[in-house]
Amino acid sequence: MILILLGPPGSGKGTQARTLTQERGLPQLSTGDMLRAAMTKGTEVGLQAKDIMARGQLVSDEIVNGIVAERIDEPDVRKGFILDGYPRTLGQAAALDKMLADRRRKLDAVIELRITDEDELVRRVSGRYTCAKCGEGYHDTEKKPRKAGACDKCGSTEFKRRPDDTAEAMRTRLKAYANETAPLVDYYAKKGVLQVLDGLGEIDAVKAAIGEVLDKLA
Ligand code: ADP
Repeated sequence: MILILLGPPGSGKGTQARTLTQERGLPQLSTGDMLRAAMTKGTEVGLQAKDIMARGQLVSDEIVNGIVAERIDEPDVRKGFILDGYPRTLGQAAALDKMLADRRRKLDAVIELRITDEDELVRRVSGRYTCAKCGEGYHDTEKKPRKAGACDKCGSTEFKRRPDDTAEAMRTRLKAYANETAPLVDYYAKKGVLQVLDGLGEIDAVKAAIGEVLDKLA
């Protein structure tokens, strides 16, 4: 199964993708994570992306298409995968169509986690942080660790925030979403693969709704 999770920053794509990976064994291909990994490693791509990402702008189609094309030839994605944060422009969507056609593979569904309330998105993103060791996600007001200052999952006391989770970078990211990514909703609706879900629900409610869509496809 090849699935795209579409939605603005803060809509819960990463959270839902991680659960799908755990429960259905579908690898999560997050271009944001791949770019951050490239930055940590200090590769050429990482260096090129660093400042662009910190400002909340989009990295070039050429770079992200390249990293996705490489990733989908790895053996672990043979049975399927979830794209999280890709495609983000019409150019990327066309590139993905070609990548899949060249490999005789087919896109099964695009699930849009729809949230139109930008204040809610800013609130979600500007309060979030993760455990530096295991990556578990937290939020200043919504989801604090049970014991203050220590990760529920692994006990680590180190946490980190993304440099683009500031209110200012978030405004740029929302603009990029509206201008560059929102047109993909129509693009995939016309192909007949789009499923729109309410992204404002509780994590478990959204998870259940995604589960229903996938069970129907299976
Ligand atoms: P979010 O969905 O919350 O914005 P991501 O981790 O998916 O977070 O992306 C963070 C940043 O990485 C984006 O703002 C952008 O700079 C870059 N990025 C990730 N995926 C893409 C993509 N497909 N095209 C262009 N830039 C991307």
